[in-house]
Amino acid sequence: MKNFNPADNIQDLQYFGEFGGVNPSISDSSTYTFLSAKTMFDTFEGNMEGCYLYSRHSSPSNLYLDKALAAMEGTETANVSASGMGAITPTLLQLCGAGDHIVSSRTIYGGTYAFLKNFTPRMGITTTFVDITKLDVVEAAITPNTKVLYCETVSNPLLEVADIASLSRIAKKHNLTLVVDNTFSPLSVSPAKLGADIVIHSLTKYINGSSDTVGGVTCASQEFINSLKNVNSGASMLLGPTMDSLRSASVMKNMRTLHIRMKQHSHNAQYLAERFEKDGLKTVYPGLKSHPSHSLYATMINPEYGFGGMMTLDVGTLKKANELMELMQQRNLGYLAVSLGFYKTLFSAPGTSTSSEIPMEEQIEMGLTDGLIRFSIGLDNDIERTYQMMKACMQELAVL
Ligand SMILES: *Cc1c(COP(=O)(O)O)cnc(C)c1O
Repeated sequence: MKNFNPADNIQDLQYFGEFGGVNPSISDSSTYTFLSAKTMFDTFEGNMEGCYLYSRHSSPSNLYLDKALAAMEGTETANVSASGMGAITPTLLQLCGAGDHIVSSRTIYGGTYAFLKNFTPRMGITTTFVDITKLDVVEAAITPNTKVLYCETVSNPLLEVADIASLSRIAKKHNLTLVVDNTFSPLSVSPAKLGADIVIHSLTKYINGSSDTVGGVTCASQEFINSLKNVNSGASMLLGPTMDSLRSASVMKNMRTLHIRMKQHSHNAQYLAERFEKDGLKTVYPGLKSHPSHSLYATMINPEYGFGGMMTLDVGTLKKANELMELMQQRNLGYLAVSLGFYKTLFSAPGTSTSSEIPMEEQIEMGLTDGLIRFSIGLDNDIERTYQMMKACMQELAVL
């Protein structure tokens, strides 16, 4: 990991806009002219570098963002999409067809879980959900039809850490594609460097960081991205979840400050997690020594970006959780909202919101309790002040 610095890779990209602008010009066309008819034919065949055909396939602005994200993850290339789900679903449909099987972590984003549980069976694709931290259970779930091993680096909402290097060894042994959703830990973890074949992000969260758009990306080999974009058989090209050029240009500008933001998110979350744990609250944060994956995660991260901005607190009951969230919002400590990676703290009770797709008995089995509040800690400049104000809310409601 020492030689790989994702933030340097982003910083080192250089742009000269059409008129010498320091930002590349935004491409504002759905279709592109060809000076020769032969070039158009070759472009359809997918073998013309640097030529654009139609913006559902690719556009100059999207390619700039693709390049920046591929540089960040250390993959050959990437393909941006209109949402995180717009990256996840075509990627899995490109890798799997009728009769194929997926082994997936059971603690994944609710939308991904619903897609694998309720939607892909209609196409003859089945999924076995496993506790991704138990490598023997993961391996035992693999069948001759398994094509994909799927997980999140840090899982939503329980912040379980996937041992990507070990999962990669299992995937290689059984000839599977290891797909890792790295949405919670950009820069902190570089899954491709640990052996993941494909790295996915919801750009909606940290990478864009301003809660003003949805977006996604698949970072992978040139060969896989070409297959995804193939005019005749590519899931991305044919299903059409393309990001708009104006939006990809704005996401790219936000991405340039990601390293500064991630350090602050991690610093603030580490601070609050340590304080609340000391106060006696049930606190889950991968940067705490009490976290079951703490030492594993410490070996996986690019340490300067820390353990990330996501933290959970268990305040006992859903009623208390709801009261506390409402009070914290009243006191301007953040928003009662789903999503993550904003400059303000966001909080929600995952059992009734983002993970509500997961059946109750499974929620209980995986430790997703009623009183759990998921926090995406903001960029607060004075985190001690925030801590004191949060603590006052908790004391008022007799949570602390
Ligand atoms: C939000 C999220 C997604 C889905 O991304 P959208 O941009 O909302 O489509 C996928 N995975 C994780 C881990 C997420 O947090």
